[in-house]
Amino acid sequence: MSKIHVLDKLTIDKIAAGEVVERPRSVVKELMENAIDAGSDQITVEIKNGGIDYIRVTDNGTGIAREDIKTAFMRHATSKISNIDDLISVSSLGFRGEALSSIAGVSRVELMTKTNTDICGTRYVIDGGRELVFEDAGVPDGTTILVKNLFHNIPARRKFLKTAMTESSYISALMEQMMLSHPEIAFKFISNGSVKLQTNGDNEIRNVIFKLYGKDVFDRMLQVNLERENISVSGYVGKPELSRSNHHYELFFVNGRCISSTILNKALDEAYKSYLMMHKYPYAILYLNIPGEFLDVNVHPAKLEIRFLQAEAVYTAVTEAVKYALQNTELIPEETEAEEPPVRSIQPAMIIPEPFEREHIAALQASEENPYRISMPEKPAKQEFMQAEQISFLSEEARKSHRLIGQIFDTYLLVEYDEKLFLIDQHAAHEKIRYERLVRQYRENRNDSQLLNPPIIISFSVPEADTYLKYQDQFIKAGFEIEHFGGNEYAIRSVPTELYGLSETDYLKELLDILSEIRTSADMESILAHLATVSCKGAVKAGKKLSPAEAETLIRELLSLENPYNCPHGRPVIISFSKTDLEKKFKRIV
Ligand code: ADP
Ligand code: MG
Repeated sequence: MSKIHVLDKLTIDKIAAGEVVERPRSVVKELMENAIDAGSDQITVEIKNGGIDYIRVTDNGTGIAREDIKTAFMRHATSKISNIDDLISVSSLGFRGEALSSIAGVSRVELMTKTNTDICGTRYVIDGGRELVFEDAGVPDGTTILVKNLFHNIPARRKFLKTAMTESSYISALMEQMMLSHPEIAFKFISNGSVKLQTNGDNEIRNVIFKLYGKDVFDRMLQVNLERENISVSGYVGKPELSRSNHHYELFFVNGRCISSTILNKALDEAYKSYLMMHKYPYAILYLNIPGEFLDVNVHPAKLEIRFLQAEAVYTAVTEAVKYALQNTELIPEETEAEEPPVRSIQPAMIIPEPFEREHIAALQASEENPYRISMPEKPAKQEFMQAEQISFLSEEARKSHRLIGQIFDTYLLVEYDEKLFLIDQHAAHEKIRYERLVRQYRENRNDSQLLNPPIIISFSVPEADTYLKYQDQFIKAGFEIEHFGGNEYAIRSVPTELYGLSETDYLKELLDILSEIRTSADMESILAHLATVSCKGAVKAGKKLSPAEAETLIRELLSLENPYNCPHGRPVIISFSKTDLEKKFKRIV
């Protein structure tokens, strides 16, 4: 009996399909990319049950010529490249020519398409790779692809899918990425009969952000713009008050394509370091343009991997672009009355097809009874842009018109300026001032130290001595001069000038403790975290009365800082109430 045999075509296709089509999201992605490659400016995606039962993508692109339809469903059939050289220069999204054949191998696919040169459109049905229908269809230019019962012929794969809700959320995230990478295309995303996301294709990123995240988030986004020789960074980032607990709201588009990159995540962490608490991450939608020769693109069937050949330059560009945006904006959160949550989805009872897809849907309805209902036009989503006018509370000019009202609860300083009431947390403010001073000193390597005469002799435990020996240079940097005195004893000959209210030995022990907890090398971050702790210990506590002069000094120093908005731990230092808000509270205005 022969053991080796060649697999039949259906099996080969099923295996290949597994690489391209992993889950409903991958089907939607391939079909949308095809629609984009076909020059569409309107694309509707409709799914049911997380896309497991039903996926429809309708576009108003070029359509597929009748004589090309069957070829398009063959493996490695593509109109986009013809040989390996084209692979390098290809600008379109898909080019492996595998998507349609793969999808048709693992589901029932119905295609309706028409080019502007064909007189009549075509309807083509193929199920599990077997052709069922090829007939005339009266449809406008463009393409509809309907994918039903995904993996119905591969139960093992179908079982592998997550719940419809999870699959649907994957698709929804994909839609957001597509909408953000193609603001020039009007997208509509329908799930289980309601419109979840929609953009109008006016090529304005800000309008897409507004649509996706709502006014509340939109109003707290900052614009980013940086041009370097070989790289440009633009887009939007969230003010620190918008932070999230994971990286999911950090989106990067490199030359128009959404990619994930730990380097870019790290660049954002760096830019937000003094603005966000630990384990908090910003919102970011950043567009990078980098010449192709600086990218190493690895095309894997299921994912696109990008490596930057000049990673450091990219990292620095992103960090600087974002820092610049943060530093040039007033980041005082305004306390407003709770507004209604942003409307993220419009949920009419019934859906109205766009004109470009109406006849496609009608044709679908004609071919089988399709539960599609046409209804009254939905109300257009409210759109308004409040461009926050920024009159800086911090500018030299503004400071002259500040009116210090006083202190309340022995904790907060009140300042009136430009129809607003500002509240400053004195402890957080002082902490921040000390911290910045410490950091500056540390960065500039100004190890201002004072000689101790006579030196203080202290004994280190074995772990303490280990830590000290390992990080000797850090102690020198901080302003300590320590000498081994014999046995476990050490002589401290100099200490930093500024001890932040701690005794010489306490400060030393503090530093030892922090450094002993660092598992890797003593990086800047750990040192800064340490400085934050120390600055906090020595800072004016809440609950201490300040004289007007003391309050003035504190405010003046605070406002001269690069980032006076957050304390070293990321808590806000200043908040504000507008006159309008107060008037609303008193019902003077509505
Ligand atoms: P690829 O996109 O890698 O070329 P696909 O299997 O996804 O391979 O598609 C095969 C071909 O079918 C494409 O090259 C394109 O010519 C055609 N095609 C697929 N979808 C569309 C569409 N929505 N509009 C126009 N042409 C399409
Ligand atoms: Mg494709």
